[in-house]
This record gives sequence, structure tokens and C-alpha cells, in this order.
Amino acid sequence: MEIDSKLPNLSVNIFTQMSQLAQEHAALNLSQGFPDFDVTPELTALVKGYMDKGFNQYAPMQGILALRERIQNKVLKLHGARYDAQTEITITSGATEALFAAITAVVNPGDEVIVFEPAYDSYVPAILLNKGIPVFLEMKYPDYHIDWNEVRDALTDKTRLIILNSPHNPTGKVLDHKDIKALGQIVEGRPIMILSDEVYEHIVFDGVSHLSMARYPELKERSFVVSSFGKTYHTTGWKVGYCLAPKSLSMEFQRIHQYLTFSVNTPIQLALADIMAQEDLYLGLSEFYQKKRDHFLSLLAGSRFRPLACQGTFFLMLDYSKITQEKDHVFARRMTIEHGVTAIPPSVFYHEGKDHRVLRFCFAKKNETLETAAKILCKI
Ligand code: PMP
Ligand code: GLN
Repeated sequence: MEIDSKLPNLSVNIFTQMSQLAQEHAALNLSQGFPDFDVTPELTALVKGYMDKGFNQYAPMQGILALRERIQNKVLKLHGARYDAQTEITITSGATEALFAAITAVVNPGDEVIVFEPAYDSYVPAILLNKGIPVFLEMKYPDYHIDWNEVRDALTDKTRLIILNSPHNPTGKVLDHKDIKALGQIVEGRPIMILSDEVYEHIVFDGVSHLSMARYPELKERSFVVSSFGKTYHTTGWKVGYCLAPKSLSMEFQRIHQYLTFSVNTPIQLALADIMAQEDLYLGLSEFYQKKRDHFLSLLAGSRFRPLACQGTFFLMLDYSKITQEKDHVFARRMTIEHGVTAIPPSVFYHEGKDHRVLRFCFAKKNETLETAAKILCKI
């Protein structure tokens, strides 16, 4: 039997490929974005406690209300934005499901979707499966800013959605007030929605603020704001995220969510609702990761790798052009096999494989891991 593939040009994603290669060669895995340190035992104890107390059946389709209320309060406090926990917040199977559901809710065949490259790998497949047309625009190397004039020029009467990601994976770029103003002017009076991937919302550095779409009423009314507990609580394997959107958008979103997963596992949602009461856990995350970024940077100071700016996320882009002119995916593989450190080649985040001779390193790692990796990198 054969299937006529709907995604014929896509193979196993880069995170799976590189993590597998790292494993095969017992390399330090700084490729796929996940911490190598553990979650706070308090959180796992809460999950276990709820399981032991019998909270093991279906959660409501929209998510456990206590968790939605915590999110409602957090977003109100941080961004001054009101979302109704009853109708405007949905708990999802990671941000990945939320992104898929939002794109499916909005994109009809022939609709154009603006995607900024380098782009996280799950956006385009979701657009294509819904028969939408990705319209690619490039963030400008080396600081990866968006040229808003290009965005304006790319608009047509078929433009339906703009996908944004700030703080940005893989570049660490964070949108600023000028970006928000330009975006506001561009969408004003047009039937264009925004999908804002904010999974690294709590990881921003050097006093930079995360400007959520939720903050701006004229953007909020047309936005799906997506986040992930995986990044915030060091639990990428739990796959729990959420989506904020005004009522009419959330209704359509939930129609899809209901048939994608129906609901997300119960004990983890209950535990997350409890742990969210400790605001310092997410408010302290930027400082925690800034220390890791700076430690890694100082360890690399004598190396031939040149760091690019990193305003947020737990990824650092390193230019390796002083070492070799090999393509990024070739060097990433060779570095794994010959030197025992694995990173992500960002050319995979461009539809035409643009290659700036940089690699993405995940620094959500124990200090020992970063130190061992840096020692190796300094010798390359
Ligand atoms: N968006 C971005 C930018 C990401 O980096 C990731 C994964 N780390 C996701 C979405 C998916 O998040 P989740 O693991 O919660 O599905
Ligand atoms: N978001 C993670 C990263 O960028 C990986 C997620 C995945 O493996 N699909 O590394």
C-alpha cells in the first residue's frame, strides 16, 4: 500500500536527527532544546500526589479551570491584558498542538501566511496541510531584525495570517516597541490575524522586556498567543502548553483542539496550577538563564567561534566561519562525530537552506556540561 504524501519534501526533523547522531557518537547534545537538569522535586511530587489521589481521568476539553485561572491572573499582572478563563484560554498538548490548531482554525486553501525565516520547523507543515501558501520573508542577518517595509510589500488581499515568534528560536531576537508599532500599522484595517509564538516569554536578557501581543488591544483582538510550560518549568517532555485568544477565535480554536487531542492530561495540569502560585519560579527564569548564557560566553571567549547577539531563549548562535567554510549541516555532523559536541544547523529553518556559517547551541544545560562542551569547542 502506498500513501500519496501531503508533505513529500519533509523528512524526520532536525531535532530528532541531531539528537540521534549525538547519541550514536556519545556526544554532548547541545542541539535539541531541552534542559539536562531536572525539574524541581516539588513539581514532580505534586503530579505524583494528584495521581495517587485519583485525579487520573479526563480533564475538561478547555483545560483544568484552576490552571486557566492562574494563567488569566498571570497575563493580567504581567501584561495588563484580560482574558476570560472560561472562554479565552485553552490548555494544549504543548505549544506544538496550539500552533497547529491556530493555523488550522485560520488558514483556508489559497490563504497566504507570512513566515519569517529562520522559522521554527512546525509552522510551514501546518500551513501546507491546510493548503495555505507560506510567504517567506527573511530576518536580516546578523542581528535578525524584521524589515517591516518588506512585510508591507508582501501583503496581498489573500494575506490571512502573520506568524511571529519572540523571543525567537533559533536567533534569540526579541521584538521591540518599534516592531510592535510597525506591525500595528500594517495590520490596521486589514483582515489579517496574528499567531504569536511566545514559548520563551520568561527568558529574556539584559533588561529587555518581552512584549506580548496580549499587551496591545488592537493586536490582541486578532491574535492567538501561544506558550509552553515545557520551557518555563524545565519539563519539555510533559508537552503542556496554552493558547490565549479572544472569545470568537478561541471558539474556533477549541473546535479543532477538541478533535486533535480533546484534553490534556489531568494530574500535570493540577500540579502546574499549584506551582504557578510561586511567581518567582517564572519571574526568576531570565536571571537563571542569563547566568548560563554569560557563563557559556565567557568559557568560549578564547575560541574561534564568534557569538551573535542573544536577547532571549536558551539558544546561542555561534559563527564558525574562522574555522571552516563547510556548510552548516556538514560541519554540525562532523563536529558531532570528530569532536563530540552536537549543535543545530540553522539552514534547516530556511525553505531555501540559507547558510550563514553559524550553528545554534542550547545552553539549557548544567554548568559542567557547558564547561566540558566549551573546552572542546575552544580546541576546534
Ligand atoms: N515554538 C518554539 C519556538 C519552540 O522552540 C518550541 C519547542 N521547543 C515549540 C514551539 C514547541 O513547544 P512544545 O514542546 O510545548 O510543543
Ligand atoms: N523546540 C525544540 C528546539 O528548538 C525542539 C522541539 C522538538 O524536538 N520538536 O530544539
